[in-house]
Formats: sequence, C-alpha cells, structure tokens
Amino acid sequence: MLIQLLLQLNEPEQDVVPQWIAPVMFGIVFICFLVFLIRVVEHWYAWRFDRPLIRNLFVYKRLSPQQELIIDENFPFYKHWKSRKKKILQHRIVSFIESTDFEGRGISISDEMKIIISTYACLLTFGRKYFKYILIDKIIIYPEAFYNGYKNSYHVGEFSPSKRTLALSWADVLTIDPKGKRNLLIHEFMHALQWEAKVTDSFDSDRFRKYYQKMLRLLLKDSVRKNVKKANLRAYAFTNEYEFMSELAEYFYQHPLEFSLKLPEIYHLMRKILNLDFKKLTYTEIQKDMLALPSLSDY
Ligand SMILES: [Zn+2]
Repeated sequence: MLIQLLLQLNEPEQDVVPQWIAPVMFGIVFICFLVFLIRVVEHWYAWRFDRPLIRNLFVYKRLSPQQELIIDENFPFYKHWKSRKKKILQHRIVSFIESTDFEGRGISISDEMKIIISTYACLLTFGRKYFKYILIDKIIIYPEAFYNGYKNSYHVGEFSPSKRTLALSWADVLTIDPKGKRNLLIHEFMHALQWEAKVTDSFDSDRFRKYYQKMLRLLLKDSVRKNVKKANLRAYAFTNEYEFMSELAEYFYQHPLEFSLKLPEIYHLMRKILNLDFKKLTYTEIQKDMLALPSLSDY
C-alpha cells in the first residue's frame, strides 16, 4: 500500500498547455521575423539606391479645412499638388504638431503659427522616411528678436540640440519674402537635420553624411568655390559649416531654379542629401509653363 502511494507521488504531473499557445507563439515569431526582414530590405535599398524604400506606410491623419486653408494661403504651390501628396504632407504636419510642444513667450500660440512652422518643417523632410526632428521636442515662439544672455545678443532663431529646443521670433518668421534670400524656418530646421545626421545612424542621416562629405570634397575645387562665392548666398553662409548648409538650404528652397543653374553640382548633392527637389515640389504649374526650361523636364 505504502509503495503504491509513493509510486503515485513520483509520477510526473501532466502539464496542461492551452491549445491556443502554439499558434499565437508562432504568429508572434513570424511577425517579428517579417519586421526584421522588412528592416533588412529597407536598409539594403537605402544603401543601394540612396533613398528610402518606404517613406509613408500609413497616411491617415488629416488637417481641418480651416487648417488646410492656412497652407493654401501661405504656400501657393500647394493647390497644384496631387491629392496623394497633399495627404502625405497633412499626415506629417499633424504628426509633427502632436509630437512637438509649442510654447509662446510674450505671445499666444495660434493655429496659424503651428501650421506655418510645421509645414516648413515637413517640406524640408518631405523626401525622408524619418520626418520628425528627433532633436526638437519644443518650439518656443517670441513676438520678435529675443535676448540670449550667454551670447549677450539678440537672436531671431536659435536651435539648441542639447535642450532639444528651437526658439523663433515670429516677426521674422512672417517676413519670409518669396523672392528674397531669407527663410528663417528652413534655415533653423536645416541646423536640426545637420545635427541629427551627426548623432543618429538612420539611413536618412547616413545619406546626409555621405553627400555632405562629397560636397566638402567638391568645395576643394577652386572653380566650384569661385561659383559658390558668386552665387546668391548671404555672407553669413561662410561663417561655419552649419551656417553654410542652412544658407544653402534657404537658397535651395527660395530659388531652386537659379541654384540649379548657377551651382548644378552642389544642387545635385543637396537633392541627394534631402532626397527631394524643391524645383519640382514648390514650383507651380504656371511657373513651370512660364519658365519652360529644359532642366525642369529632367525630373
Ligand atoms: Zn544659423
């Protein structure tokens, strides 16, 4: 009797495993493998062709009609865009606004401010997969030029990578002259992208670094340097590498056609860095017809 009881105690217990466990585990492993495979293919494609394979997998966020009207009024080329392109920009603008903290100092934040600032941010990153600026968590808006105690001077724009903050003078954002050289927002957002390329290793950052290095090598040529100095850039461009790239970005956005004709090699490298062509993106159909330049048909 006692032996029988001991034998029963030593019998291993039958584990009861629910039948659904195996297919669920298999499903999870399969999805993880699929995501891994897509990432591998995506990286290979970006390395091979210097552009993202997938820029927008899901596009579902929409601006309100009033918000879209702000874009219509401030960006004349927008109404000439095809519906798909508009949807992508809108999705990105809404995502940018959701992930950014806007703070007014001496000024209250309006929808117009958020939309104009975010549209410029998303135009500059329109060719990238990673369109959100990982070094910008907060945008501080002042009514006009603000004082920087550390530098003992007044500034109209200031990007701080360590604080992940961009500070702007709204008066100077509004003085964007479509025919002028100045575009404060493009300038400041380019600073953020250049810093991002230094501290992250996404394929968008890799491409930025690769073509920036090519640009530096190109600038070693006397003939190229001479043409750059003759181009429509402000003297401020030659302050340091960051100001140079930001001024080039302003030129790229404000005068893409002139830039492409005066500095074709540099223009090509800017196109590669950002994976976009502002000539194609921001010229209205009317302007293209009026200009009717052969170089426009290249794209
Ligand atoms: Zn600057």
